[in-house]
Amino acid sequence: MSGGSKSIAHAISSRWVIFALSFVTGAMWSTAPASSSAASAEAAQFPQSVSQGALVIGKVAPGSKVRYADRDLLVGPDGAVVFGVGRDEKGPVNVDVRERNGEHERLTIEVTPRDWPVERIEGVPPETVEPPPDIAERIKREQARVVAARQRNDPREEFLETFVWPVEGRISGRFGNQRVYVVKGKDVPKSPHSGMDIAVPQGTPVKAPAGGIVTFADASLYLTGGTILIDHGHGVSSNFLHLSRVDVKVGDRVEQGQVIGAVGMTGRATGPHLHWGMNWFDVRLDPLLLMEPQR
Ligand SMILES: [Zn+2]
Repeated sequence: MSGGSKSIAHAISSRWVIFALSFVTGAMWSTAPASSSAASAEAAQFPQSVSQGALVIGKVAPGSKVRYADRDLLVGPDGAVVFGVGRDEKGPVNVDVRERNGEHERLTIEVTPRDWPVERIEGVPPETVEPPPDIAERIKREQARVVAARQRNDPREEFLETFVWPVEGRISGRFGNQRVYVVKGKDVPKSPHSGMDIAVPQGTPVKAPAGGIVTFADASLYLTGGTILIDHGHGVSSNFLHLSRVDVKVGDRVEQGQVIGAVGMTGRATGPHLHWGMNWFDVRLDPLLLMEPQR
């Protein structure tokens, strides 16, 4: 269950350990601060380099104004800020910090590239890969509702919690893999995999990996089947797809570890598994980079 919201220092230091352990994924943090163009009495703290697909948590002097990727970031009462680095971001990326006393810092963060293997998937129903026009229209409408749910920018800070696995089992699909569906013997390239798949039996309870507010809950989207989105604050959200059961509704407050639904294979899926995706607004992130290994 929830250990509650942890201090930013703890969140940063625990991720430092995780990233140091998971250097094989290409993530790397350094004890040295991100390079900065101006000295400051209370220097902002950000990692020096991050992986493609990483959620990046930093700390600034409370009351600062922080800008990243043409967006003003929320700054928490203790100075926590967060943003996401996309799968295809080449970097380096910049963060602008303007303190209350007028001091301005521009931080530069390197982005470590990753390899994105091609994954060929056979056995999904052809109509889910190449849908007829009326279905394509339905998919567009449903995706627009999901995109809208991801725009929430809420000052809550559950993203600082140390995330827990929503289910534990074999990772059967990784974030970012280039996907090619095999339909009637021909290859149909599709978007890269937007999350992580964990193969577990139908009906396995799915737990909230961190606390938050449910911003989307629908038992039957065409592509993603039973679908839940949880907002963890500052634009950070989780999504859970292909569920056989949805136990929550929009507006519900959920705590870390609370059961929100059950694993299934609804929508475009070849077998029961949990698809767990994470976002910073529309930027898709790799949940695995947040996680310590399974027990
Ligand atoms: Zn998936």
